[in-house]
Amino acid sequence: MTKTIALLGHPVAHSLSPRFQQAALDALGVDARYEAWDVLPEDVPVALERLRGGEMLGANVTIPHKETVARLADRPDALVEWMGAANTLVNHGGQLAATNTDITGIQRSLAAEGVDVRGRRVVLLGAGGAARAVVIAMRRAGAAHLAIANRDQARAQAVAALGGDELPTSVLPFDPTSQALLDAVAEASLVVNATPLGMAHGPDEHASPLPASAFRAGQAAFDLVYIPEETPFLRDARAAGAHPIGGLAMLIHQGAEAFRLWTGLEPPVDVMFEAARTALAERAQAERS
Ligand code: NAP
Repeated sequence: MTKTIALLGHPVAHSLSPRFQQAALDALGVDARYEAWDVLPEDVPVALERLRGGEMLGANVTIPHKETVARLADRPDALVEWMGAANTLVNHGGQLAATNTDITGIQRSLAAEGVDVRGRRVVLLGAGGAARAVVIAMRRAGAAHLAIANRDQARAQAVAALGGDELPTSVLPFDPTSQALLDAVAEASLVVNATPLGMAHGPDEHASPLPASAFRAGQAAFDLVYIPEETPFLRDARAAGAHPIGGLAMLIHQGAEAFRLWTGLEPPVDVMFEAARTALAERAQAERS
């Protein structure tokens, strides 16, 4: 029987996951379809019931359902209980196990670029769902200190708490002209953008969360935004001699880890990157014409 894997979100029409996950399934000859399900918040319980069916391998979960699914899954793992957010479900005979592969996605993206933050200082811009995964990844990686800059200070404090005893944190206002933030960036080995600034069709697609002069050679700049592949943040970092890392790697690696959990197979990461880049190029072409 052909199996099904779903993406639960709202909206889902622009997600790249169906393109690169289906390409990976096809490349390995797995008899499964990856479908995008546009699910309204009130319909999540019904979608989960459908996911418990025998034809379902599991699902990815995206905005705005990560928290709801963490609460409603049958078997949330320790990470999901701790973070309060799930991005992957695996159907074990009618029982939905929930995990979060965003942290693995961040770890693999940095490892692939040779970035090791053990004993180093890190700056995180933003304190939303993606930022939570960054804090846990930095804690696991043994960073020496994490400064979090965000508009909403209470939200930043809550995210900083995920650092626990192992990762010292501080919270700064999100003010790209403040000397405190510029000093923190100058001292950091890694600067992460977890705001949507610079994202195509986002709040300001031409903006960067930092002035171009904030970057320096020798540090890494990781933008979680993946459309476009080179954001203003990454362009400025590259121009300053810093090491730019785009968000597509995180998207692919979190998806690859989910693929491994659904299928038990080694994910064809190169196939996934190629399919995602083809989809992005087609989209850019369609927008131009
Ligand atoms: P979210 O939960 O909505 O959080 C957004 C964060 O950005 C909040 O901290 C918010 O600040 C801040 N923000 C929003 N608009 C801003 C503005 N105009 N100026 C300054 N700060 C602003 O979103 P999320 O899920 O964390 O996603 C954040 C970004 O990461 C998005 O661009 C998303 O596409 C990307 N992302 C990428 C991946 C990947 O796989 N590469 C995965 C997840 C997310 P306040 O708290 O003050 O409102």
